[in-house]
Amino acid sequence: MHRTATTLAVALFGAMLSGCQQTPQAHDQLDAVLWTQTSIEHELLYQQTYAAATRQLQPALADPQWDALAQAPRDLAGLPPALIVDIDETLLDNTPVNAKSVVDGGAYDYAEWYRWVEKAEARALPGSVAFMQAADRLGITAYYLTNREPGQEADTLRNLRQAGFPIKEAGQILTAGTAIGGCQRAGSDKTCRRQWVGERARVLLLVGDSYGDFIAAPNRLSAQRQAAAPYQAWFGQRWFLLPNPTYGGWYTAPYADRDELSDGEKRALKERALLLP
Ligand SMILES: [Mg+2]
Repeated sequence: MHRTATTLAVALFGAMLSGCQQTPQAHDQLDAVLWTQTSIEHELLYQQTYAAATRQLQPALADPQWDALAQAPRDLAGLPPALIVDIDETLLDNTPVNAKSVVDGGAYDYAEWYRWVEKAEARALPGSVAFMQAADRLGITAYYLTNREPGQEADTLRNLRQAGFPIKEAGQILTAGTAIGGCQRAGSDKTCRRQWVGERARVLLLVGDSYGDFIAAPNRLSAQRQAAAPYQAWFGQRWFLLPNPTYGGWYTAPYADRDELSDGEKRALKERALLLP
């Protein structure tokens, strides 16, 4: 009896060990999505940032020279107050789409993304609705500069309203590549859209989760540092940056935005970008 129990215990222990020794298949997004969806730190960082941004609304409104656009000084007289916000991972949480690709063990699924936008069920990120409502009560018009595609405005409007954002019309949503005022930059660059808003409003604050929500520069850390240096004091004052470890320029920079490379090549280049002891 004793011998049988011992044999069984040894067999079980062996099975456990071999289970531990099997290396689980890695997914590049697992920890980033887990942190975003489940950590208290993520939740508090969003609340902290939006609380700080809310405190800046009154002083920004009261100072007629206050301008949050990175451009030459301009005549602000008579311009109504506005703010510029990004949508994805700034106001709306889309990480369920990333989570699905992690669980399915595949690459990010753009078909799933399009279905997600159509469903308009993304939830508001912590602190964002209260901030936007505070701005609305002060009579500040919000412009939503997003790299969602033209044609997705109606679904996006529906989602923003369902999530509690006080948006009045689809015209406040400026999607990727919107041709406005003879100024059109390809794809995700938001400079032209910021300029367009700047021609009709005094912009009090910018809020986003990506460098490109504030300023344009080539997608290299050294170039980005250099372009941001003159505006260092604006972060936390008139520019409010939120953390996004799931995607962004930083993710594609190690492989120089070359999407045609294989997953293996991309991972090797990302590993090569790491700093070692
Ligand atoms: Mg974003």
